[in-house]
Amino acid sequence: MYNIISISLGEIVLKGKNRGYFERKLMEQIKAVTNKFEGVKVFRDQGKIFVESNNEKDISEILEKIKKIFGIVQISPCIKVEKDIEIIKEKTIDIFKHIKSKQNVHTFKVATNRTDKRFPIKSMELNSLLGGIILKNFDDIKVDVHNPDVLIYVDIKSDCYIYSEKIKTLGGLPVGTNGKGLLLLSGGIDSPVAGYLMAKRGVEVQAIYYHTYPFTSERTDEKVKKLAEKISEYCGKIKLHSINILDVYKSIKSNCSEKESTILARRFMMRIAEKVAAENDIDVLITGENLGQVASQTVKSISVINEITGLPILRPLIGMDKTEIIEIAKQIDTYETSILPYDDCCSIFSPKHPVTRPKLNDIRKSEEYLNIDKLVSNAYSTMKIEIL
Ligand code: ATP
Ligand code: MG
Repeated sequence: MYNIISISLGEIVLKGKNRGYFERKLMEQIKAVTNKFEGVKVFRDQGKIFVESNNEKDISEILEKIKKIFGIVQISPCIKVEKDIEIIKEKTIDIFKHIKSKQNVHTFKVATNRTDKRFPIKSMELNSLLGGIILKNFDDIKVDVHNPDVLIYVDIKSDCYIYSEKIKTLGGLPVGTNGKGLLLLSGGIDSPVAGYLMAKRGVEVQAIYYHTYPFTSERTDEKVKKLAEKISEYCGKIKLHSINILDVYKSIKSNCSEKESTILARRFMMRIAEKVAAENDIDVLITGENLGQVASQTVKSISVINEITGLPILRPLIGMDKTEIIEIAKQIDTYETSILPYDDCCSIFSPKHPVTRPKLNDIRKSEEYLNIDKLVSNAYSTMKIEIL
């Protein structure tokens, strides 16, 4: 039935002079998910973007992929036809017949939007003309302009697009329109959600994952890769850096107080992340930290963690409830993977009673017992990179 998808832009339309840039980024993303389909055309027509294919099976697959692109608020599967009134009538009947075969229809309404004012039939006139045709061709139906069972939309642009379904999508801004961020990705519930939320605001996301192999198993690595893959459906391809920090944990364990190990390790994670960020021209770090969720996530800890890096650390989950985070994790299908019970390096080395109000001076003193530069550069040299 459908041969084209219409795409309505969200906040991009408010971008004034920058609109062109945002639209181009969005077009790039749409092309990236549609280019594996043969004979697909992506183009703009008077304020909307369209993806055209003569293969109906492809259209429904493409629809699912486009639903996950940020910067789009609404999509509709449509029939594209020439602006010839006889053809428009014929296709309106086809689409109505198609809908009637799938659901109970007692009332309907036609809603025309004539962007191309050169088209000779005005919107109201076209509504009643097409409404009349439908009434003539189908029994037991009525027009209801207030609360119809079915709405038939007719958009008159360079071509004519007929459709009945408006599917709300994610909104946000196209990935890549707001700089680059390095996500500290663990195997937990929170960090994949954090990456998703920053990508939604246009940040291009790369990821870094710290493990303590052989204390953490390869299954943990697989789990993190799986999570990166899941969020890449929204964020676009993700460059994942995996780094072994076993020596860091060992050195902390033998030289420092157990209570401080979490915060000391977190500062190492930031130091290493900063190095990776510099190498990749990345502007900000992103974590899944959430105030008060665990003993180590207090305002005092945050300030001691921030002190170690000059880069801003974005924490999109900071004020959320766990239930809200889980809801998003389920929606983006990372939850079931995140709760697989494989050990994380933090869970293996985590102290029974972590400090909740670390003092910067104490932490700095403890760090004097560690060979920081060497630990950082050794960890850095274990780095493996994958694109997911
Ligand atoms: P998550 O659910 O994301 O694992 P969490 O609730 O377990 O988070 P913490 O263990 O305190 O909380 O970790 C806070 C943040 O630090 C994580 O969200 C993540 O961004 C980062 N982080 C923790 N462990 C790792 C790791 N092994 N590799 C990369 N980043 C990590
Ligand atoms: Mg965790």
